[in-house]
Amino acid sequence: RGWQPLVLLRYTLINERGKQQFMDIVKFEELQLDERIIRAITEMGFEEASPIQAQAIPVVLEGRDMIGQAQTGTGKTAAFGLPLLDPKVKKLQAIVLLPTRELAIQVAEELRRFAKFMHGVKVLPIYGGQDIVRQIRALKDGTQIVVGTPGRVMDHMRRKTVKTDHVHTVVLDEADEMLNMGFLEDMETILSQLPEERQTLMFSATMPQAIAEIARKFQTDPV
Ligand code: AMP
Repeated sequence: RGWQPLVLLRYTLINERGKQQFMDIVKFEELQLDERIIRAITEMGFEEASPIQAQAIPVVLEGRDMIGQAQTGTGKTAAFGLPLLDPKVKKLQAIVLLPTRELAIQVAEELRRFAKFMHGVKVLPIYGGQDIVRQIRALKDGTQIVVGTPGRVMDHMRRKTVKTDHVHTVVLDEADEMLNMGFLEDMETILSQLPEERQTLMFSATMPQAIAEIARKFQTDPV
């Protein structure tokens, strides 16, 4: 029937040695995600996975530790958030740490949108400045994912209102920003009190020495 133009879409990535690297476009259907999640993100207008999503989601689903270098706006919330959603276990399963209250609210809202068709997934933002009694009440209602700032999360861990026995995943989002804001000690305290058998995911726009140090101390063979 004559010639058809062949359109091959690829992302160009710059690898750690500054070399160009190509990656084929990945559809979310190829990523072994729950069908209810696919439905929710399709409704949100997501069609193709962004590079960080295409690379991170399989690694996260495999249960491995990982470090992702990604700026805001690259889709990293979905990169760690989509594989995290699981309505089966009613206990607290995952803690996401972020540097600011605005980010905690924003990321919790995004995770709730991903879980729109997954009834029973409860995501709670907790941050300093908000009434702690209200947070405690919400936590008692059976939260599966806490999205919070390090100081307040640590506070709840001390009060045992955040119980970490069943936490299998921790995400350090904007890790370099958390360092800049003086949260290093809080992050280390939290990480050292979580179950040893867990997955540690770290996202950072830059990779200063201190980040590599956290990875060395708290991750196992990260991708
Ligand atoms: P983030 O970097 O996670 O803050 O995401 C930036 C914005 O891009 C958010 O509004 C997301 O909802 C949106 N987004 C993330 N991944 C995708 C995707 N694969 N396709 C379309 N939009 C996306």
